[in-house]
Amino acid sequence: MDWLSDLIWHDGRFLGIEWSAWKVLGWIGNAVFFSRFFVQWYATEKKKRVVVPTAFWWLSLTGSILLLIYSLRQRDSVFIFAYAFTWIPYIRNLMIHHKHKEAHLDCPGCGEVCPPNANFCSACGVRLTVAEQEGKV
Ligand SMILES: [Zn+2]
Repeated sequence: MDWLSDLIWHDGRFLGIEWSAWKVLGWIGNAVFFSRFFVQWYATEKKKRVVVPTAFWWLSLTGSILLLIYSLRQRDSVFIFAYAFTWIPYIRNLMIHHKHKEAHLDCPGCGEVCPPNANFCSACGVRLTVAEQEGKV
């Protein structure tokens, strides 16, 4: 297991990386950005269909902003360009998601979020009343 301890602690440094506050920020950005894949994968496996949850866009936005800050600090044009504009679709998707969710109906029976103008809940079959369809419940 010498190879493992050598990998973890290399040249007197953790993972052989020269750590600084900026390096920690960059790695946190990487971790946040990378974690979005697990969130999306979990949501898709749970629903057994392709799902992109709101958390995916929040993690994308947060991770890319942290990585943009880090890349600006490093003055690396490749990484600055890579994260300079990604926030635009992330924020737009969050806005659309919010607007779409507002248009949906909450089932009084099970709390499932149902499509607008649905007559019955797709999860429990409860009839959705006019008040719920108008979003007044
Ligand atoms: Zn229901």
